Amino acid sequence: VYLAMVGEGTEQAGFQLAERLRDALLEKALFDPLTNLRNRHHLDDALRTQLGQAQHTGQPVSCLMIDIDHFKNINDRFGHEAGDSVIKSIAATIQRVVHDSGMAFRYGGEEFLVLLANTDEQAANRLATDIHNGVRELSLRFGLSEIGHVDVSIGVASYPQHAQSDNLLRAADVALYRAKELGRSRIVSFGML
Ligand code: GH3
Ligand code: MG
Ligand code: MG
Repeated sequence: VYLAMVGEGTEQAGFQLAERLRDALLEKALFDPLTNLRNRHHLDDALRTQLGQAQHTGQPVSCLMIDIDHFKNINDRFGHEAGDSVIKSIAATIQRVVHDSGMAFRYGGEEFLVLLANTDEQAANRLATDIHNGVRELSLRFGLSEIGHVDVSIGVASYPQHAQSDNLLRAADVALYRAKELGRSRIVSFGML
C-alpha cells in the first residue's frame, strides 16, 4: 500500500511539473521578458479575435501605435542597459493606463501597440493622451545617471471608421509616421490626415 501511494505521489508530482513547464513555455511564447507586455506572436491571434467580434457586434476597435522619441540618443548617452530601463518604465506606464480597457504589446524594440476593443476614435484619443502625459511625467534615472524626461509619439486608427480589418495596424502606423513628421511628442489620429 505504501509503495503504491509513493508511486501515485510521484506521478502526481510529474504531472504538476509538466503543467508548470507548459505554463512557463506558454508565458515565454506570449510575453516579452523585459516589459511583461504581450509580444508580437500574440498579436495576430488577438487582432483576429477582436476584429471578428467587432464585425459581429458592430462595435469599434481602435489601435494605438506608440514609439519613443529620439530613443537612439538615450542609448548613445547612457548606454543600452539604461535604454532598456527606459523601455521598461514606459511599458509599465502604458500598462497602467490601459489596464483592463485593452491589450498592450511590445511591437518592436522601442515600439508598442495597444488594441482597444469597443473603443472609438474619441475614446482612443483620450487614452493616448493619458499615455502621452503619463510618460511625460516620468522622471527617469538609471543608477547614478539622471536620464530625465522622455516623450512618445502616438498614431491612432479606428475600425471601421478609418480602416478595414486587414489594415488597421497600417493606418495607425501611417498616423504615427505623421506624428513624427510633425515634430514628435504628439498624438495624430488617422482621422486628422
Ligand atoms: P524617432 O524619434 O524617429 O523614433 O527616433 P529614434 O532614435 O527613437 O528611432 P531610431 O529608429 O533611429 O532608433 C531606435 C533605436 O532603438 C535603435 C536601436 O538601437 C534601439 N533599440 C531597439 N530595440 C532596443 C532595445 O530592446 N533596447 C535598447 N536599449 N535599444 C533598442
Ligand atoms: Mg521606432
Ligand atoms: Mg523611436
